[in-house]
Amino acid sequence: MSFFVQELIQKSDISDILDQVLHGKRLALNDCIRLLRSDNPYALGIIGNILREKIFGKVATFVNNIILNYTNVCITYCKFCAFYRAPGDSEGYTLSVDDVVKRVAKARDQFGISQVLMQGGHNPDLRIEYYEEAFKTIKEKCPDVAIHGLSASEIDTISKVERSNTKEVLSRLKEAGLDTLPGAGAEILDDDVKSRISPLKIKSDEWLNIMKQAHELGIKSSATMMYGTGEDYEQRGRHLVKIAELQEKTGGFMSFIPWSFEPNNTKMQAEGMIKYPSGGLELLKMIAISRIVFSGLIDHLQSSWLTNGIGMAQLALTYGADDFGGTLIGEEVVSATGARSTELTSDKIITAIKQIGFQAHERNNFYDTIRVH
Ligand code: SF4
Repeated sequence: MSFFVQELIQKSDISDILDQVLHGKRLALNDCIRLLRSDNPYALGIIGNILREKIFGKVATFVNNIILNYTNVCITYCKFCAFYRAPGDSEGYTLSVDDVVKRVAKARDQFGISQVLMQGGHNPDLRIEYYEEAFKTIKEKCPDVAIHGLSASEIDTISKVERSNTKEVLSRLKEAGLDTLPGAGAEILDDDVKSRISPLKIKSDEWLNIMKQAHELGIKSSATMMYGTGEDYEQRGRHLVKIAELQEKTGGFMSFIPWSFEPNNTKMQAEGMIKYPSGGLELLKMIAISRIVFSGLIDHLQSSWLTNGIGMAQLALTYGADDFGGTLIGEEVVSATGARSTELTSDKIITAIKQIGFQAHERNNFYDTIRVH
């Protein structure tokens, strides 16, 4: 570490915490909150980058994938969501199993994808057989494509439709071909925040419990945080600590993805709850803090280009992120907010990674390198 960097860290208001992290110490809730309150993103970024470089050197990964939003029909009416349509709405849609499989096969042939990220609304008309048939047929026709599908709250919805329980649902879906669970639906794991922005969605403990059940069944997952919804730093801190605590028990989180709330076209914006997104500096701070808090616990941290753009994602790689995320071809949820381009080709991601002097490795669903570019 250069003299200048040491000076910057020592003079920062969080030097004691950064010192602890560099010596491998796990952080307590108060430390997380102090990091979140700090107005020194540069010191945070330097430490985030040092921790990333220790594990990954100059390698950044990405996955060639599609997002398949199989239905926009939803009965949960989250105030931050511009994607859903209520049952009976003329703009509502649900893809048939045949269409789901055709889209995956076409993307495999056209783009060589290795992962389908399948997510949709909470559609009460879809029985578990819909998902089982879709997963089984994808596995028959495209065995080389991993299914990273269904958030914890979709699993909860299926269990309610089936009058079953989430463990049984997870077990049946695993049997049908589900590989891993995305971390969506966590938002901020604090029930006051949830009551304000998504009152009908599963609460924090339910999200954590479904993730725990999945991990115990051998289904790995990612974890996410959607910040910038008006939560305070204590609530964000508690979110990070809850994820860290579960990871210490199960080791089932493969990655963490902090992404910023995009308010356009949402009820939260219409009601004046949030006027604009939290922006680039906050993203860099969240990336660095996530790397620091999950040091030694969760290795992979995504750069979140989807809501912040390619330039910010490049910077995020220098603040602690190691993974660019996916090409996300076909994304419809964030694009419903009118956010910037919500899909990329692998060529553009490779160029973005190389532009900042990193090596671009294409990975599979499980973060194993499958191609060096
Ligand atoms: S975020 Fe998901 S659960 Fe909430 S309204 Fe949108 S589609 Fe439904």
